[in-house]
Amino acid sequence: MTEQDGTEPDSTGNGSTGHREAGRRDADDTSRPRRLETDVVVLGGGAVGENAADRVVQDGLEAVLVEPALIGGECSYWACMPSKALLRPGTALAAARSVAGSREAGTGMLDAQAVLDRRNSFTSHWNDSSQAEWVEGAGIGLVRGRGRLTGPREVTVDYDDAGTTTIVARRAVVLATGSVPTPPPLKGLDGVEYWGTREATSAQEVPPRLIVFGGGVSGTELAQAWARLGSRVTLVARHDILDSYPEQARELVKAGLVSDGVDVRTFTAADFVRGTADGGVELCLQDGSVLSADRLLVSTGRAPALAHLGLEELGLEELDMDSGRLESDDSGLVRGTDWLYVVGDAAGKVLLTHQGKYEARAAGAAISARARGELAPAAAPRAWSREASTANHVAVPQVVFTDPEIAMVGRTAEQARAGGVNVSETSLELSVAGSSLYADDYRGWAQMVVDEDRRVVVGMTFAGPGVSELLHAATIAITGEVPLERLWHAVPSYPTISEIWLRLLEKYGL
Ligand SMILES: Cc1cc2nc3c(=O)[nH]c(=O)nc-3n(C[C@H](O)[C@H](O)[C@H](O)COP(=O)(O)OP(=O)(O)OC[C@H]3O[C@@H](n4cnc5c(N)ncnc54)[C@H](O)[C@@H]3O)c2cc1C
Repeated sequence: MTEQDGTEPDSTGNGSTGHREAGRRDADDTSRPRRLETDVVVLGGGAVGENAADRVVQDGLEAVLVEPALIGGECSYWACMPSKALLRPGTALAAARSVAGSREAGTGMLDAQAVLDRRNSFTSHWNDSSQAEWVEGAGIGLVRGRGRLTGPREVTVDYDDAGTTTIVARRAVVLATGSVPTPPPLKGLDGVEYWGTREATSAQEVPPRLIVFGGGVSGTELAQAWARLGSRVTLVARHDILDSYPEQARELVKAGLVSDGVDVRTFTAADFVRGTADGGVELCLQDGSVLSADRLLVSTGRAPALAHLGLEELGLEELDMDSGRLESDDSGLVRGTDWLYVVGDAAGKVLLTHQGKYEARAAGAAISARARGELAPAAAPRAWSREASTANHVAVPQVVFTDPEIAMVGRTAEQARAGGVNVSETSLELSVAGSSLYADDYRGWAQMVVDEDRRVVVGMTFAGPGVSELLHAATIAITGEVPLERLWHAVPSYPTISEIWLRLLEKYGL
């Protein structure tokens, strides 16, 4: 550690130093340094970790990113991108079929192989060289190994083929280690081969019959994707599908799944699962019936990946590991420390890429501000400042990319009331000139939740084909706290689906 002694943090340089320059090697000249020193160490090179490292480098600090697997993480290779690439061709074909004139041209099935090939290209065939190039070009150091905390501001990286590097962080360590699936307590699951979302987003063949176990966003999206690719899909959910979304929106998605031939079994409990002689699976339900399939996809939630990070050894598990979460403030700073940050899925606040990247930008800004002395070491950041992910509390946009889609931001009426807000709800079938042009027999629904005391929108839900692109206007209205009287002057173009805003405001009474 002598190398560190007396070293002044460099908070003024341009930060574009890269790995070799960012750290220092020990005297023996191996290709891997045994010891490095930098301003910020980020554990996890997913989308969130990349953003945290990029932000501090842009602010003039040095950063090293530690990643044992593919740079880009879950979103690029096994989650957002491949799942949306699997869904998009089916949505495009259904859109063509929903309009007289193009319907006649849109006959036939999806070309499953072409869809899988296009998905493969979106994941760069699970090769991260372009992302590694981006990291280097951004001036971020890269260490390909698995990191763990071995002291305050100290990370030890273990390599697959033995050997370690110790990295000392002058400023901060950021945990961006993502999340891991939480398998359900289903008897027999350990004894059968099954898909998780990784296998379901990277499969190279369409299974003739697929059981999807879990009715959350991933389960529902993947059920539709594989059904449209030709699989006979049964979706089994313990409660309703998508049960955190308003009922009218859920019902539209359910109708979409059923029209794609998905056998939707809601409020259905399973007893156990077993393998069959031909390599398939049987899911035995509590009502005594048995579902058979070639593949089982288990998609029942995720939890922060915080195991084996050395937290216990540092006494940090005592802070608050309730429900597997490490408690942190809005800058991501872990309670009780002035150097450890947690962001993205690892923080467990909102498990969405865009919100994790937002948390990463806030954490990066806070680290830089604290390095410059503009923010006190452990002080909570000011709400709505660059250093705070305030929108996490009131305006998280989320899209279910099924066909029809659900796009929701902010709070439902129930959530708002539970938080003590005096709200009204205004709901409408989505039926405007733009929607009828978009698709013959367009079916959709929208809801606006208004804080009656402040006269601002606090929640918005759209359900229907093509509504995801409507969402950002609602996100702006909520984060900007635009008064209803002023929102009235935001005139939607004619004829677009956005005209639903006007109809909602009129129904509300403006
Ligand atoms: C099927 C599916 C579809 C999804 N679709 C969407 C979507 O459409 N839109 C959306 O916003 N979100 C979506 N999500 C959620 C999204 O994928 C996650 O929120 C996002 O990937 C989280 O990014 P992250 O960087 O926090 O974690 P990850 O992407 O998981 O990255 C964490 C990285 O940390 C590395 N790591 C782990 N341990 C260590 C260690 N000890 N040292 C160093 N590195 C370590 C891992 O190898 C990994 O690369 C989807 C999720 C799933 C499962």
